[in-house]
Amino acid sequence: MPALDFVPHLIDGQERSSRGNDTLDNVNPWTQAVQGTIAAGGAPDAADAIAAARAAFEGGAWSRLPERQRGALMHALADRMEAHAEELAQADSYDMGRPLAAARSIDVPRSVAMIRFFGDHVALATSEMYPMGAEFHAFTAYRPAGVVVAISPWNHPLMLGIWKIAAALAWGNTVVWKPAEDSPTSAYLIARYALEAGWPGGVLNVVQGAGAVVGEALISSPDVDRITFTGSTAVGRHVGEAAARNLVAATLELGGKGASMIFDDADLDLAASTAARAVFNNTGQVCLAGTRVLVQRGVHDAFMERFAEHAAALRVGDPLDPQTDLGPLASKKQFDRVSDYFALASAEGGTVVTGGPGEGWSFTPTIVTDVSPTGRVWREEVFGPMATVTGFDTFDEGVALANDTDYGLTATLFSESAARIHTAASRLRTGTVWANCYQVRDLRAPIGGPGFSGIGREGGNFSREFFTEPQAVFIKTSL
Ligand code: NAD
Repeated sequence: MPALDFVPHLIDGQERSSRGNDTLDNVNPWTQAVQGTIAAGGAPDAADAIAAARAAFEGGAWSRLPERQRGALMHALADRMEAHAEELAQADSYDMGRPLAAARSIDVPRSVAMIRFFGDHVALATSEMYPMGAEFHAFTAYRPAGVVVAISPWNHPLMLGIWKIAAALAWGNTVVWKPAEDSPTSAYLIARYALEAGWPGGVLNVVQGAGAVVGEALISSPDVDRITFTGSTAVGRHVGEAAARNLVAATLELGGKGASMIFDDADLDLAASTAARAVFNNTGQVCLAGTRVLVQRGVHDAFMERFAEHAAALRVGDPLDPQTDLGPLASKKQFDRVSDYFALASAEGGTVVTGGPGEGWSFTPTIVTDVSPTGRVWREEVFGPMATVTGFDTFDEGVALANDTDYGLTATLFSESAARIHTAASRLRTGTVWANCYQVRDLRAPIGGPGFSGIGREGGNFSREFFTEPQAVFIKTSL
């Protein structure tokens, strides 16, 4: 499938242009060519989508469906995603340069698994009952919250969007999903498959367009019940303010500046290959990335040799080429941003060991040493394939360096000592700790983190808490 000539909104079961007929270009980051246009929504389109979601919610054809039937419809969507796996994988590849092989083997299957997981999770969920003798029947019911606005970023368009909407939908909410303007296609395809799978119109609406325009209209609306946002810290702060004005609950999954810590008893081959994956995967455009590599001095040189070898072995190129490990950065804007940080690294005293700008908007895996812990490269999220390596002597010094950040999404530890790992994990201010592994997920586990990484957690019961209104029910049962 070539890229779509036009990516529309899908509102109330209908594919539509914007009310104002405005469009944005959809640029392929590898060829740098305009491959099509997308509907550029405005406030009227946002209002239409919210009204459709509200009517679908109140109508009850989704929100009051027995959980097992909703679960079956979630599985029907997952079946269609599997049937169209290639189309879905190509959509992200064309839109933001995701290597097609990775989209096929990781993004699509993981997204399918999320839809199936939350469908089952709700269908199999239990709730609390409070024994009050024969006099009352008392229990908690998890009622759907209502209309959910889901705003997703461009770095893993399909996977991160599905992570937002799957739990919301499974718990009986209706959704307005705004994907990032740089990656519109996979969201549109999902909404189309949902209709084909027999979902009622208005349950899953997708609006396209610029964050500052249609996104702004969505987050400012008083007629929504939840906002779930994944994106940058700056925009997340703004979304949180808008939500607070309307007393709408929001989860904010924001940026990261994760540490990979290599202790002197680590398996260095495992540490080097895993730390390289943790920072260069998806061309470094991953909030969970381990961008600050901290190495205990006794193994510093031995680790660096292996780490640089792994970086140099990664193939940068055409996302459609099955040999490609790293596609280009997702847009010119992102390429300029990473290039600026690359220049800044040297200006802030860093030494470039390897890497730098490549062909077009590509960036080769970059390793910098000696950056100042007070500089911007150490403190700010680069969101590109750039690792900084810093040495430490003692355990306490290493933990202090790992915690020396405003962010708190992840830390990745390498050690053969369970005691070291447990103790470090207990002192790290991060939402996730991986030890001797990276990006292991369980959909029951929370995702999120403190500080600039956001507010709230999603996953399993954490999603239930957010996407429902828990209701305490007391029914008199005695005569
Ligand atoms: P971004 O904040 O610029 O955009 C994210 C989304 O918000 C897009 O859909 C955008 O259109 C929309 N948006 C922008 N302005 C808006 C506004 N005023 N009102 C409403 N919506 C608006 O972020 P990005 O550059 O697309 O994504 C990269 C960022 O996302 C990185 O900082 C990364 O760390 C973060 N991220 C976080 C997670 C996580 O789970 N914590 C996952 C992936 C990415």
